[in-house]
Amino acid sequence: MSLKRVRIDAQVAYGGFGTPVEHGSAVVQDAAGSRRVLFIGDRDEAAARWPDADVKTGVFAVSPPPVNAHVHLDLSRMPPYRGPYAGFIRAVVAHQRSGERGLPAAQDGLTALAKTGASVVGDVVTDEAVMFELLAREDLTGVAYWEVFAPDPAEADATFDATVERLRRFKAAERPGGMRVGLTPHTPHTVSAPLLSKLARFAAANELPLQIHVAESPDETELHQSGGGALRELMGPMLDHWTPTGMSPVAYLGELGVLDARPSLVHAVQVDEEDVRLIARAGASVVHCPRSNTALDCGRFPIELYARHGVDVAFGTDSLGSSPSLDVQAEVHAALAVHGARANAGALVRAAVKGGYRVLGLTPPRLTRGSDAAGLTVWPQPAGVSGG
Ligand code: ZN
Repeated sequence: MSLKRVRIDAQVAYGGFGTPVEHGSAVVQDAAGSRRVLFIGDRDEAAARWPDADVKTGVFAVSPPPVNAHVHLDLSRMPPYRGPYAGFIRAVVAHQRSGERGLPAAQDGLTALAKTGASVVGDVVTDEAVMFELLAREDLTGVAYWEVFAPDPAEADATFDATVERLRRFKAAERPGGMRVGLTPHTPHTVSAPLLSKLARFAAANELPLQIHVAESPDETELHQSGGGALRELMGPMLDHWTPTGMSPVAYLGELGVLDARPSLVHAVQVDEEDVRLIARAGASVVHCPRSNTALDCGRFPIELYARHGVDVAFGTDSLGSSPSLDVQAEVHAALAVHGARANAGALVRAAVKGGYRVLGLTPPRLTRGSDAAGLTVWPQPAGVSGG
């Protein structure tokens, strides 16, 4: 029997549990067509135990597949936008009116996602046909979050009842091992306070995964502080009922009981240490989308603050409207560039893998001796970087 062994040297070697090993290795054995992982961890140990293995270099990481914990597949036909956040929302609304947000766009997104190798995803869904498509897919797992947008408090009860009715129909289409149904109130300012509270209580009582965009742009903070600014202008009469509380957007979610449902908070860039403490205390998590934050001038996500408070961080690409691709590996490389010495590569890989599974309520896979090598993702180095 012919045995072929390859030692893959990587900047980060991570088996899906424990501490990622910097400058580690994976050893893969190919025997009679069956490729198995023999080892993942310390490079010196790998070299000593399998001295005759072929060596592959130029690899950033070896790990289980990373997770894209926040995407909007139905915006995959939106022309890429670069500029301030309020302008982006205007562009999304114009795009939606063009009729290009729906099932065909989501199918384009699914094709783009499959090319990145990702099959675990947290997707924001605004169209029933897309929801049923996602729930029927056998090649995907994760959460399909139904989006609610209803800023007028007078609509809260009717929207709540309609949402509950929809969620019941969606839940009936869930399949074991497939996508689960979740719920996403769009933002703290585009869903009225009474509706936010009711949705969060409903999600918690029914164990529905909850996700919400929050503290994305400085404009959002201003809206909560003063009631004015670019978002107030953008939303016009839709925010006639808006009363600024003077709190931060995260504290506002805490006040309304939304954090009690342990949501995943998308972006969560414009936060201070008190906000991060609230998130940590609630056992909520955050999804980091650095390329979208850069494109929309939203600022830098304080990753070191989240690390200090032990908050679970995952990665998401956001939509193709604000991000150049649906590739979560590229998102991690962008994070390395944005955070510099404030984040280490191992922690970022762990966030993209284990953080992603945890945020979506799934158990992270573990690579150990004998694991099928199909479950090993070999991340190339980003262009222009050499070594392992
Ligand atoms: Zn988003």
